[in-house]
Amino acid sequence: MHKKNIIAIIYDFDGTLSPQPMQEYTVFPQLKISPNKFWKEVKKENEDIKGEEIITYMMKMLKKAHAADLKISKADLGNMAAKIKYYPGVVYFFNRINKFVEKESGGEAKLRHYVISSGLKEILDKTKIKRYFHNIFASEYHYDVYKKPAYPKLVVTDTIKTQFLFRINKGKEKLSENINEFMEEAARPIPFSNIIYIGDGLTDVPCMTVTTMNGGYSIAVFNPKKRKSIQICKTLFKNARVDFIAEADYCKGRELDTYVKVILKTIIAGINHYTAQREMAKKRNVYK
Ligand SMILES: [Mg+2]
Repeated sequence: MHKKNIIAIIYDFDGTLSPQPMQEYTVFPQLKISPNKFWKEVKKENEDIKGEEIITYMMKMLKKAHAADLKISKADLGNMAAKIKYYPGVVYFFNRINKFVEKESGGEAKLRHYVISSGLKEILDKTKIKRYFHNIFASEYHYDVYKKPAYPKLVVTDTIKTQFLFRINKGKEKLSENINEFMEEAARPIPFSNIIYIGDGLTDVPCMTVTTMNGGYSIAVFNPKKRKSIQICKTLFKNARVDFIAEADYCKGRELDTYVKVILKTIIAGINHYTAQREMAKKRNVYK
């Protein structure tokens, strides 16, 4: 039986922690291609071949890099990560919220942060905020013997993202572990009621729905400079896909910070309730 004292905040990356898709800070400038043109080409090609958009973008990026003679080994991609820009307050958010949970729960609850992204793990693994994450799940290339990316070996689509929610929930975070075996609620180390999912758009809908329908919490964040982004969040809220919507500003005292803390206090109250029940049961020998 787990203590159920672990809380997880799970973030999408592009548009959630960082304003633009990560490729736009990293690979595209080196390839000298306009993001708009690239994504349009991906959409068009994908319509023609009726494929999976993430595979199409990963293959197209590979082909363009090869054609331009740009090296994109794992190390090269990692080196580009420093160029990524973050929304206000992101860099300081994790430590600050960890301390909040520690104080609020009297050290009883432990907070973990995760990323689930359709972007590239090679880049995410080298970001300056990597050390705050318990785990990062993202798309990955397979590399040949010359360390060149050959093909996508892991593709994280909108719906595949939900698989990782269950991996976190069941404590089976290694991809080699079977996720479909039945596991009783009591045996799951991080119940959905201890999970907060933060995303920015329609690609997060499957994760938001799985989280909230299982008793967890979802927040949609928007870029205040983009009307479309604000509109998407309003629709998500109107359709009850998310509990809160807020500007993607992670600074102390801002709306997002307030909502995250409101949810965390609720989760911590649940953890304290569970702990008190267990102690009472022990005292009264209920389970003997
Ligand atoms: Mg996103």
